[in-house]
Amino acid sequence: MTAVHELALIESVVDEVVARIGDQRVAIVRLEIGALAGVSVEALRTGFDVCIEGTPIAGASLDVVEVAAVARCRSCGSEAALAAYGAPCACGGFDRELIAGGELLLKEVEVY
Ligand SMILES: [Zn+2]
Repeated sequence: MTAVHELALIESVVDEVVARIGDQRVAIVRLEIGALAGVSVEALRTGFDVCIEGTPIAGASLDVVEVAAVARCRSCGSEAALAAYGAPCACGGFDRELIAGGELLLKEVEVY
């Protein structure tokens, strides 16, 4: 398993933060990551440290807020926690739509 996926993700996050902050100094970059976003938080952290080297946000910390996965069942309409992709609803239905927990969002940037 490689961390290429995470590295590409974190690179785009770092680019976005750098584009946003102007000449402010960034203390914390906060990401919201769904439990089923399919990324390794450890790999993101490592990638972040690598990607911010030599950028205006070098020295910033990465804070990760994990969001639980929730799915809506298309058979019975109920919304419930989703432990893993493909897990059935309590009604037995497998046709479930992920409504939270698949995201990777730049939530907030704290500056000094
Ligand atoms: Zn159901």
